[in-house]
Parts: sequence; structure tokens; C-alpha cells
Amino acid sequence: MPRCVICQQIYDGGREMTCSDECHEELVRRLGADSGEFKKVIRLSTGVAYKVPTMDIIEKVLKEENLDRYPIWEENQS
Ligand SMILES: [Zn+2]
Repeated sequence: MPRCVICQQIYDGGREMTCSDECHEELVRRLGADSGEFKKVIRLSTGVAYKVPTMDIIEKVLKEENLDRYPIWEENQS
């Protein structure tokens, strides 16, 4: 069985390299993100959540007024 690259636990199921979403997020953070990942960023003044590529969060300084160029975060999962 695979071993989680973050917490070193042996796991069944989960993500490709990690045992859980939590560890996956940590992995993405450590790797400096891969372009397929998105983060939920909430615009403070409106409370609207945007789907922002993790890359952009890491590489750019996100300004609130620039958030509306990103798609709205859809809360369609259970
Ligand atoms: Zn883990």
C-alpha cells in the first residue's frame, strides 16, 4: 500500500501521494502548487468566494479588486 508523503502513514485510498485532503493541501503548499489546484478565496467586502489557481496565490500578490477575474467558487459538492 502507498505511504503518505506528508505524514508517512500507510494508507488505503485517498489521493495519489497523500492519505487525505489535508495532507494533499500540505503537499501542494510544499511543492509550491501545481497548476491544476485551486483555492477558495473569499473577497472580504462582498463575501463572494472565488476559485483562484494556487499558483496565482503563491506567485502573485492577490488584490481584492482583481478577484473578480476569477470564476465564482461553486459550492455544489455535498
Ligand atoms: Zn497523510
